[in-house]
Amino acid sequence: MREIPFQIIVDAVRDACIRANIELDGDVVEALTRAVDDEASEVGKDILKKLLENARIAMEERIPICQDTGVAVLFVELGQGVTVTGDLCLALEEGVRKGYEEGYLRKSVCDPFTRKNTGDNTPIIVHLSLVPGDHLRIWVVPKGGGSENMSRLFMLPPAAGWAGIKEKIVQTVAEAGPNPCPPTIIGVGIGGNFEQSAILAKKSLLRPLGTPNPDPRLDPMEQELLTEINRTGVGPQGLGGRVTSLAVHILMMPCHIASLPLAVNIQCHASRHVEIVL
Ligand code: SF4
Repeated sequence: MREIPFQIIVDAVRDACIRANIELDGDVVEALTRAVDDEASEVGKDILKKLLENARIAMEERIPICQDTGVAVLFVELGQGVTVTGDLCLALEEGVRKGYEEGYLRKSVCDPFTRKNTGDNTPIIVHLSLVPGDHLRIWVVPKGGGSENMSRLFMLPPAAGWAGIKEKIVQTVAEAGPNPCPPTIIGVGIGGNFEQSAILAKKSLLRPLGTPNPDPRLDPMEQELLTEINRTGVGPQGLGGRVTSLAVHILMMPCHIASLPLAVNIQCHASRHVEIVL
């Protein structure tokens, strides 16, 4: 059994929280750069250039890309050949607590009724999977409120099929308008059950932008959806244009014979994700 010390995890998660909020990943920067050429509207082009400038300034001056530094979502793969000296969940939480405090990141978590801030951006949201191997892989994915608020889940009748799925996804993006800070990335989870479809939708956002869906059945569906979404005319920041979304990512799994779960998780242009392997 390989042992990973508690403090190594705390420090790695701390650093990842800070990096994720300050450094926009290269794949997102490339997609925004390509979008400047694809966008026909002058206002839209200008907005995309400003988003790129914002990302550059954040990186150079070591300040957050956006004031909304998000709820800390962590996808964790724990190899079955690994033990953690101490409690893994406490280590993840302590890493987030330190990252948000030491990185001067806004604390964005509150009690749902009193709205009192918890003060340290905890509790965190952890999706843990046990996998073969002796590694611990952690994706730190801060998620902003604006784009999360416009995400939707549908329990469709099975007969809705691909046409029904497409209609709901495009409708969700069109109705969201400027609220999720477009251009967005659309994470789609199809199948599973109620909660699993939502996790699939969010997990699909971990795939680097510009890479094809490894499932040859889903790849053309993503392209078709992206074309239809970009015909809605929402455009950058909702001010009109061709580039409403940069990409659509789909994850799928089988579901109950009586169900067709569909989740649409909208991700804003501040698509922050850092992967750590320990
Ligand atoms: S939706 Fe994204 S870009 Fe908009 S305010 Fe929230 S985190 Fe920032």
